Amino acid sequence: MITKRRQTREVVIGNIGVGGPNDIRIQSMTNVPTKNVEGNVRQICELFECGCEIIRLAVTNMEDVKFFAEIRGCLRAKGIFMPMVADVHFSPAIALDCLEVADKVRINAGNFSDKLLGTQSFSDDEFLAGRSKLQRSLGQFFQRAKVLKKSVRVGINHGSLAPRIIYKFGHTDIAMWESAKECIEVAQEVQFEDIVLSFKASDAERTISANRLACSKLDEIGKHYPIHLGVTESGNGDYARIKSAIGIGCLLVDGIGDTIRVSLTEDPIKEMEVAKNILRGCGVRRYGVEFIACPSCGRTSYDIQAVLGELKATLGKLPSARNLKIAVMGCMVNGLGEAGDADFAIIGNPNGTLSLYQKKNCIIKNVPVEKICKNLTKFIK
Ligand code: SF4
Repeated sequence: MITKRRQTREVVIGNIGVGGPNDIRIQSMTNVPTKNVEGNVRQICELFECGCEIIRLAVTNMEDVKFFAEIRGCLRAKGIFMPMVADVHFSPAIALDCLEVADKVRINAGNFSDKLLGTQSFSDDEFLAGRSKLQRSLGQFFQRAKVLKKSVRVGINHGSLAPRIIYKFGHTDIAMWESAKECIEVAQEVQFEDIVLSFKASDAERTISANRLACSKLDEIGKHYPIHLGVTESGNGDYARIKSAIGIGCLLVDGIGDTIRVSLTEDPIKEMEVAKNILRGCGVRRYGVEFIACPSCGRTSYDIQAVLGELKATLGKLPSARNLKIAVMGCMVNGLGEAGDADFAIIGNPNGTLSLYQKKNCIIKNVPVEKICKNLTKFIK
């Protein structure tokens, strides 16, 4: 059972809202250099077609700001108005310029004004000097964002916390929270509220614990910024998918999270399916037909894998099947019990035929396997 979703304020990013009453948004990031305008436009169009709702691009220098604007122009000319986020590290000046061309700017709290290298121990005065520097540059940045009505993601990454923060608080969840708190305090000084926060680590356990801690701290101070979830640098293949599903999924089940990005070291298009499956699996967003199927065992009297495959291929394209839950079960042993909350259930009979149920009521008995898909499609239509 999912805990009630944590209440957050809505932050507007271009033409969509994140947090508040909005669905949990799916986002991704292009993986070609920003100067490759054509490559970026192509990736973004593909991602848009597959359900991506927010796109992020790396902006590494002032030239990239111009390319970012050019990519935006090309997309708008194609009728794609997906909100565009500029991803900036190290340079408050670039971040400031990005506010002019992006819907949202993502900054890294750990390197916005602090240097990642250099002295590793800090006196109280040195710590405060670092904080004052952040206050000046971030304050100016938030003020400009407020004027331009742009939003900002304050990204806290376990792997790139400011050295002075690590020195004072350790490489810990509390350090991640303290880094965010500094930025929140600067935002409060200039009354800027359009912030999304993220607390990312490369392992699921740290991602979960840091977000849980941060959300309890946010609740204590009465701040309800939306939360962006992701396990950063999760890698590729099955392991990356499982790690992301655990990290993001546990938090979604806690009720935490307003937008997600599954980071894969693969073509970004692959992130879409994983993101949708995590949202579906956690029961927080529906995409088309929801299939449940038993793993099958020695009691299964028909080719359940083939039937499930045919149903997915056929019903996936059927508009009237959207939002239905369909169960495909090998036998009656657990069959109807497990499939109890499905809209339709197909259950194998010992004689190799199938029976079709609608909300636990048998509507056709003993259907030959090859006719089940046709029969179910007819009922759904
Ligand atoms: S529903 Fe029946 S066939 Fe499927 S796994 Fe359970 S006992 Fe086996």
